[in-house]
Amino acid sequence: MDVLVSSCAPAIKGTFTATLPKITFENALADKDNLKGLRQKYLEQLLAESSYGQYAHSVVYDHDGKVVREAALEDIEKIISTQKLAEYHASNYVRYNYRLFNKSDEEKEKKKTYLLSPDGEREFRESLADSIGGTVNALAWCRSLASDIGSKIKPIIYVSGKVFETLEMGVLNLKEKFYLSEDILKAILEHELMHAYDDYSGMDLGNGLKIDSLNVLSLDPKLLNFVFEARAYLHAHEFAKARLGSQTQRFTLFSLFTGEYYNGAHTVDETSLTQFQKQIFKTQQGEVEKAYPEIEKMLKSYKN
Ligand SMILES: [Zn+2]
Repeated sequence: MDVLVSSCAPAIKGTFTATLPKITFENALADKDNLKGLRQKYLEQLLAESSYGQYAHSVVYDHDGKVVREAALEDIEKIISTQKLAEYHASNYVRYNYRLFNKSDEEKEKKKTYLLSPDGEREFRESLADSIGGTVNALAWCRSLASDIGSKIKPIIYVSGKVFETLEMGVLNLKEKFYLSEDILKAILEHELMHAYDDYSGMDLGNGLKIDSLNVLSLDPKLLNFVFEARAYLHAHEFAKARLGSQTQRFTLFSLFTGEYYNGAHTVDETSLTQFQKQIFKTQQGEVEKAYPEIEKMLKSYKN
């Protein structure tokens, strides 16, 4: 068939491109159970339109969270069977589990050895599974393992059916409803695509501060999470900035604020960081602080 096409080509003057009909947000929304696959196709369209789309392997529409759950369970098995990842997660577990806070370093080390032994595998698996809840409930998920950062691997992005519903977000006593639109969906996707970019390229914070596959597993996990998330929230906020005063801008600002509240700088124990990590922390904090005046403006509007 290729031969036929090329032999016909000279007869056509000028360029001819067959364009598929564009799927609108409303089309995708109307395909309620994704029976026509329009939601999947629509997301693929959005991915192709983004300048960061090239860093994702693909996008998968996950109507009811089942696909994400399966993928997350698969990742747990991969962590358990990959020594460097198992050690990384077991170390983090004994370091940050509140039940072990007042235990000695020796006891924590003993617990870590137990988790990595056949006897402790069940408990280890359960501790890893605890984090699945957040992943399944998320609006979107960029699937990657900690060791993937800077590995030149393009991750898959999963988007939940929730992005086609009205979204109620809250933190402290602040609550806000967002009516999902193409623009907000794009902002959600941009957040995940920033993760995809960082997974692929690593994180260059300037001044020689680079997080990549060589040093990522030696970093404090709370610091890593803070930098990873802050960059994604700020990227989505940057995307929405051009739409001054729009609901999308408010959504990205609100996300940044709630993201800061849950995964922000305050979760990092600065005293335990090395000099290099302290520099990373300070640099990223500086980037987040640039958005503070806008966050403050947003917060004031709740008082009116
Ligand atoms: Zn994120």
